[in-house]
Amino acid sequence: MLDQKMEAAINGQINAEIYSAYLYMSMATWFDAQQLPGMSHWMRVQAQEEWSHTFKFYKYVNERGGRVTLGAIDGPPTEWDSPLAVFEAVAAHEAKVTGLINGLMDLALEIRDHASSSFLQWFIDEQVEEEASAADMVGKMKHAATNPGTILMLDNELAARVFNPPVWLNI
Ligand code: MG
Repeated sequence: MLDQKMEAAINGQINAEIYSAYLYMSMATWFDAQQLPGMSHWMRVQAQEEWSHTFKFYKYVNERGGRVTLGAIDGPPTEWDSPLAVFEAVAAHEAKVTGLINGLMDLALEIRDHASSSFLQWFIDEQVEEEASAADMVGKMKHAATNPGTILMLDNELAARVFNPPVWLNI
């Protein structure tokens, strides 16, 4: 049976994962408006990944005999100054999510919930990838900001991103 404090904390994280998907969808719409469809596509793939995280938590709560409860989702920002500003916002957001995941792990360790700490390890590792990917994109956008023309090349590159549904994503 899932500890009540852990259940509440994971329900909070489910809200944060849905917000992440919502934020990246908002960024996708901004890129569409800028005529950068490849970057918009990259953001929609990112949003799908966040939905997959949501369902990973959802399944875990159910497996442990807990109950998922859903709350209101905050509205995301809708305007950014530049592609670089968007990816800087991604990097800042992922750093925040890392803090939230670390907080969940701290709780699991504190209450000696070994199943949750084992489960959360996947998210700890995932955040290392998320932060590295965001930093990589920020670097590319900085390069593009000082090299006119590069942005369209990057738009083509980002168009190639593919969402690979993880094996556990069987909803
Ligand atoms: Mg996530």
